[in-house]
Amino acid sequence: MNKNRTFFKVSALLTALAACVPATVTAQDALPVVTTFSILGDMVKRIGGNAVSVTTLVGRNGDTHVYQPTPADAKAVRKASILFTNGLEFEGWLDRLAEAAEFNGELIVTTNGIETIALQEHGDEHEGKNHEDDAHEDDRHADSKDSHEQGAVDNGSDAHEDDEHKAEGHDDDEHEDGHDDHHHGEFDPHGWQSLKNASVYVDNITAALAKASPENATTFYQNRAAYMADIESLDTQIKDMISALPASARTIVTSHDAFQYFGRDYGITFLAPQGLSTESEASARDVAQLIRQIRADSISAVFVENVADPRLVQQIARETGSVVGGKLFPGALSNEGGPAGTYLDLMHHNAATIVTALTSAKKP
Ligand SMILES: [Zn+2]
Repeated sequence: MNKNRTFFKVSALLTALAACVPATVTAQDALPVVTTFSILGDMVKRIGGNAVSVTTLVGRNGDTHVYQPTPADAKAVRKASILFTNGLEFEGWLDRLAEAAEFNGELIVTTNGIETIALQEHGDEHEGKNHEDDAHEDDRHADSKDSHEQGAVDNGSDAHEDDEHKAEGHDDDEHEDGHDDHHHGEFDPHGWQSLKNASVYVDNITAALAKASPENATTFYQNRAAYMADIESLDTQIKDMISALPASARTIVTSHDAFQYFGRDYGITFLAPQGLSTESEASARDVAQLIRQIRADSISAVFVENVADPRLVQQIARETGSVVGGKLFPGALSNEGGPAGTYLDLMHHNAATIVTALTSAKKP
């Protein structure tokens, strides 16, 4: 069939449809919104459907922790009615971007209301460290720890709040004050790694869209209901998959510390040589300690991530005789049609990969 003819037929049909049904949202009418990263983008698209035009700043397989916004991002943010962010200091670059873009819309922190995990709750393997600096709640941070051990000058906690600091790039590992040149919040930011939390994200997104575009609220709430049903059914499915694992085979190693929420929901312990952010680098001491722990606890599987450098985890696997159990997706979707093309696919893939590895792996 002639492609052009088909095209004209289709566009004629669409024009006719638009004319017949004035309520139908056209591209121009769609609510312009920005999401910071691919998982949020997927959620907002799923709820907003055609009524929303979504721009996502950090795309598939992108690392939000170390992202550097572009002029195109600022342009998108400037035009957006809503800016959806994860919050919990996941997007350390966002305030500055929103300011530079003179963003005038609604900022929605999608983690509002989730059950957060405070950093101290799972920081106990870094014993024997005392930070005088309260702003550094994230004392799992390898660089930060080393700096303190080297007796670097400990600047006041306020130093991490100033704009000049935020303006700095995240490429250089060493900050002149001896700290790593970024800060983290009090809580693990990777909230989407819990499907229970995801339902809170979904509620926040739905309410914000419905407020901004009340004429489409019914559609948003219908989409929300279908999404929630899928989220609940996947949660049950993952619980069933993991319940078959013996208690002795429930500890695994990932590159960076992104799975604490998943671990809390499903009873899996995650260890990571890198801290909560991929910005951090694991210190030799942390890695050595982790290797000892893997041997002592007979941890049988380690995992690489789509956004993190796999070499450290591969080295740990070689040194401990653990199996690299596959690739996990902590904070970014895969390519479309890939194993983690949507948020729900991502959660399913991670769970299935973990269960398969823990079921088949031999103890080192
Ligand atoms: Zn992360």
